[in-house]
Amino acid sequence: MGDRRFSLMVHGGAGTLDDAQQRAKGDAWRTAIGTVLAHGRRLLTDGASAVEVVESCVVLLEDDPLFNAGRGSVLNEVGAVEMDAAIMDGRNLAAGAVAGVHHLANPVVLASRLMRDDGPVMLAGEGAMRLAARCGLTQVGDDYFRLPERLAQLEQARAKQTTMLDHIAGAPAAETGKYGTVGAVARDLKGHLAAATSTGGMVNKRVGRVGDSPLIGAGVYADDETCAVSSTGHGEDFMRCVIAKTIADYVDMRGMDARQAVDAGIAYLVRRVQGLGGVIVIDRHGNCASGFTTRNMIHGWIEHGGDATVRL
Ligand code: ASP
Repeated sequence: MGDRRFSLMVHGGAGTLDDAQQRAKGDAWRTAIGTVLAHGRRLLTDGASAVEVVESCVVLLEDDPLFNAGRGSVLNEVGAVEMDAAIMDGRNLAAGAVAGVHHLANPVVLASRLMRDDGPVMLAGEGAMRLAARCGLTQVGDDYFRLPERLAQLEQARAKQTTMLDHIAGAPAAETGKYGTVGAVARDLKGHLAAATSTGGMVNKRVGRVGDSPLIGAGVYADDETCAVSSTGHGEDFMRCVIAKTIADYVDMRGMDARQAVDAGIAYLVRRVQGLGGVIVIDRHGNCASGFTTRNMIHGWIEHGGDATVRL
């Protein structure tokens, strides 16, 4: 039957936080991650399923303008928001993913609705927005997203003629930007796993660019037989390494635990593509592990129902 305690991990993106950012926002990030962990703990203790919990935690993160998802989504090359999200249930490998959606407060909710339908796993653009309308999801106006900080970030990226991750200030050119995507992985009291990831993508990204976040096996993966994974970082690196499924394969085929599989996955990411970013992973026994190649990753966890830990 295995360990009947729950585990939960959440992240608010990988990147390089300089001292000024840490001073200005460190407490806010810590508080936000701590609040989400406390929320998840309540749900899991009450017997909620892992998939319900990861959706609910990601909704909180999408609602918080500190993170690059939902409300705080970064802006693309034309100053618009295009978001990607995905969710996966480790019980039966059910999954839902949406790409290039806009004017939605909570893309993860749309991904979840799609997962519960007996149809496609992934919808993009217009088709996803039609589903949102059919599901009665409220649409929000441009003002909901176009926060002063995001407009300034876009100007900075345009001036440098680059795309950027969300959490990178004063970093070397190759690292410019911040990977402020959000994600959650959980193991519930019954031992089931789930994962969800949501993002506004990269600052100044091309219109129509889709990152790794909504791709099953790259930005998100969950299988009760192995582990649950959520990624954040330079999406193109993660897509080419199919990083989430690669980590699950290390668990499956090499008998690794979460820590070993994360180390092996990150080593592969670096060796093959010098990838920038990180992952959070819970294995089927509830062991938690994280790894990242950037200077920081905003994340936190509760392992086996223990104390909450938050790291920036
Ligand atoms: N992985 C996301 C993307 O490439 C960005 C991020 O993690 O912040 O769209």
